[in-house]
Amino acid sequence: MSMTDKAFSAEEFIVAPVRDLPKSGIREFFDLVAGRTDVISLGVGEPDFTTPWNVRESAIYSLEAGHTSYTSNAGLPSLRKAICEYLYKYYNVNYDPASECLVTIGVSEALDLAMRALVNPGDEVIYSTPCFVSYPAEVLMARGVPVPLVTTDADEFSVNPDNLRKLITPKSKILLLNFPCNPTGAVAGEETLREIAQIAIENNLIVITDEIYSELVYDDCKHVSIASFPGMKERTIFLHGFSKAFAMTGFRIGYVCCPKVIMDAMYKIHQYAIMCAPITAQEAALEALKNARKDMLIMRDSYWERRNIIVRGLRDAGLECVMPKGAFYAFPCIKSTGMTSREFAEGLLREESVAVVPGSAFGPGGEGYVRACYATAEDQIIEALHRIKAFVARHSK
Ligand code: PMP
Repeated sequence: MSMTDKAFSAEEFIVAPVRDLPKSGIREFFDLVAGRTDVISLGVGEPDFTTPWNVRESAIYSLEAGHTSYTSNAGLPSLRKAICEYLYKYYNVNYDPASECLVTIGVSEALDLAMRALVNPGDEVIYSTPCFVSYPAEVLMARGVPVPLVTTDADEFSVNPDNLRKLITPKSKILLLNFPCNPTGAVAGEETLREIAQIAIENNLIVITDEIYSELVYDDCKHVSIASFPGMKERTIFLHGFSKAFAMTGFRIGYVCCPKVIMDAMYKIHQYAIMCAPITAQEAALEALKNARKDMLIMRDSYWERRNIIVRGLRDAGLECVMPKGAFYAFPCIKSTGMTSREFAEGLLREESVAVVPGSAFGPGGEGYVRACYATAEDQIIEALHRIKAFVARHSK
């Protein structure tokens, strides 16, 4: 057989970690919803607010003024300065804008840079789960080994330090945390975080902390960054962005702050792969930091009201639901129906035209739960709750 006889197979060319990666469970589920107009969606995790007007206006002005060039690779110096001031003021962490702050294409890029800069093949990355769908995928693409640290409703989905200790091996390199958490809405308390910080120090782990929902915390809950504890700044990679709190998902602006040596490594990848984040969006982000705090707090209060409505409604429908302390997700338990989370979500969509995401899409620990995003209109939430109640009543064992 000559070379030309062999059937061409494009698949052979795909690198193994990418070929073997499953598609995001969320997207797969939303293909079922696409094109249907009758569906109330508690699905996609993004704010239902339009970006505050002054922020949009600054983007318009940026274009009007002809600001259409690249910026420096790390991002506009004025934006980096504002980010570092913001982190100092609200998170009690002190970063140097010139050497420890990089503006990225959302937290998504920042996470990718961190993995590519730090993970050697076979390195273990412990990540708390249920979690944002990208975490294990990013580890796998960097040829690392994702090690799930399952959080449960017994701990209100906060990390249990004893469980963390059990997972540490000589190959453990990184601990990846996300509080407030997508999909559970959990916030790890300060004492727990201090214990986790101690474990990270004792075991020489790098901590990546994704604090993208950190402005959205409710009641008497105060967000605390693990980066702010003694001995932690030097081993922490702090990720944050504008998508959630400032309702700016479409602007695609995030940032990473960390010690210079790690930053230098991430900067190289960013420089060659991305160049810089778009100038229009960076200027809008600067306006958000300077003049949109009031709007942000109004949006937060509105999520708080809707959180109370949805949790009350889910419990009234017979589903147990831990009170989420942050973000804009409720994560009710659906085990009482005897269905898997996928069966529940598909049944609810088919019978009641309400979309929620199966908990199993968020990795280990997610089965038996669904994620309901309450960043949607209050009347829609109330109607969805009626329908969920009818569905659960019909299916409860
Ligand atoms: N981290 C978490 C926990 C998220 O939920 C999301 C978005 N759903 C991201 C990161 C990505 O956000 P960005 O728009 O900044 O890329």
